[in-house]
Amino acid sequence: MSFKKHIVIIGAGPAGVFAACGLYDRGFKNITLISRLRSQNTGGQNNGGQNTGEGISARVTEIIKHYALPHTLHSIGEEVQRFAHWNGTSQSQNREFILDREKFDQALLKDAKEKGIKIINARVTKLKKQPSRIWNIHYENAQGSSLIKADFLIEARGREAKLGSPLKQPNTPRTTALARRYSTAQDLEAMTSIASFKKGWAWFLRDGKGSAYLQIFISSEKGELPPKDKLEHYFSHIIENIPQAQKWLEGSSAAPDALTVRTASPIRRASVIGDDFLNLGDAAMALDPLSGNGIFYAIGSAVSAVPVIATLLLEKKNKQAAFDFYNERINVIFEEACRTAQEFYKSEEQWVHEPFWKARSNEPLPSSQEPAADPNLASASALAPAHTARKSVVKNGFIELEDIIVTPDHPRGVWQINNIPLVKLLELQNEKTYAPLQLAKIFSVSENDIKVAIRWLENLNMSHKNE
Ligand SMILES: Cc1cc2nc3c(=O)[nH]c(=O)nc-3n(C[C@H](O)[C@H](O)[C@H](O)COP(=O)(O)OP(=O)(O)OC[C@H]3O[C@@H](n4cnc5c(N)ncnc54)[C@H](O)[C@@H]3O)c2cc1C
Repeated sequence: MSFKKHIVIIGAGPAGVFAACGLYDRGFKNITLISRLRSQNTGGQNNGGQNTGEGISARVTEIIKHYALPHTLHSIGEEVQRFAHWNGTSQSQNREFILDREKFDQALLKDAKEKGIKIINARVTKLKKQPSRIWNIHYENAQGSSLIKADFLIEARGREAKLGSPLKQPNTPRTTALARRYSTAQDLEAMTSIASFKKGWAWFLRDGKGSAYLQIFISSEKGELPPKDKLEHYFSHIIENIPQAQKWLEGSSAAPDALTVRTASPIRRASVIGDDFLNLGDAAMALDPLSGNGIFYAIGSAVSAVPVIATLLLEKKNKQAAFDFYNERINVIFEEACRTAQEFYKSEEQWVHEPFWKARSNEPLPSSQEPAADPNLASASALAPAHTARKSVVKNGFIELEDIIVTPDHPRGVWQINNIPLVKLLELQNEKTYAPLQLAKIFSVSENDIKVAIRWLENLNMSHKNE
């Protein structure tokens, strides 16, 4: 019955499209994806206009392969060497795949469409929940204004999300990214490079086909950025004083398109889940691009949302477990990403007294102001020794409560290894000594799988006691 419910997803970035495809594969065929195309975002919009360049790691391409999205996979650019000029040293780092975000997002939509998902190309202008709990979604496109109704709403408009207000993190410094496209010689090797400078950091992409992209991340506290019509000049002035940027741009000329302006401060939104709505990707938490992996986490949030939404629609009795699962996941990832970004900022010691670097290296790490699902959650759990707890897990495509083991390395807990529930195994071991073969029979797994799980438990050095 609930499979017939109409799910509307607003925003067709990686989060929206992966959620649409995941839900469709899960049996929810009545889905509409409504989005403005990236190419319709003029320069100055939060999520970048045309010609936005980004980089992704091999793990993102692996997920795309796994989910069999052929057009998306095909749209990904070359895997290139990434160079870093940081804290006074220059070195070649890992590799990354380059993306033209416009092409990437168009390919995502094409894959969604071929799967059978209904697509509306439009800008959503207003959301309103009726007393009947049906969502009214107003939108505009070339055909005019219209309205669509949803039983369940997914907010995936990235940083432009309207559902769920940003949690106030008073100490989080504001960052803006300014970017410009260039024409370069075609015989220059494709590459990406990152460089720190006194007032921020820069990221450069050269595609090896005559096009390059330079993006700078600078502070945008109140009054720091000049008015819109002076931004071009401001950008040129800053890059003139970045020696690496001058080198990267040797022999190139600026493309005629407008400078792209994107907000890049970390944002964690409040109330990202309810009985009939859920925020995904950047609409739930947008990370500092220095911690990288925004697309990876956007896709991850969509994949994790599928069993959550299935629970909310089909197993309502477990809805609190679904809320806790989703909130906890976001809290832990957000705090971890903020910590990672801060470590990167701290590792740059040339300008420790400059406001940009000082603010980002020393600010207290943000923490969620929402009540945690479990009082022992996240930071507290991260410090406590390994212990058992009852938490929500994904089981048979739904969210349910299970006994799990929380460790400092796994603050969200581990339920199973090789399909073996660890707390159950621990209980059996505490009862009496079983041979691995006996345990393998009890859990219907191989002896080797049991040995792996036993070794994992032995490394924790814990006996079974509930918190
Ligand atoms: C400056 C900058 C650089 C970055 N670089 C990288 C990088 O190199 N690698 C990386 O992995 N991540 C990077 N990120 C992060 C990455 O861009 C995001 O994490 C990712 O795109 C989030 O995906 P999403 O689907 O949640 O949202 P988005 O990709 O932002 O998609 C939102 C969608 O909603 C649509 N939309 C918005 N408003 C409306 C509306 N009113 N009506 C209809 N549709 C609407 C938009 O057109 C868009 O299609 C960067 C972020 C910034 C700010």
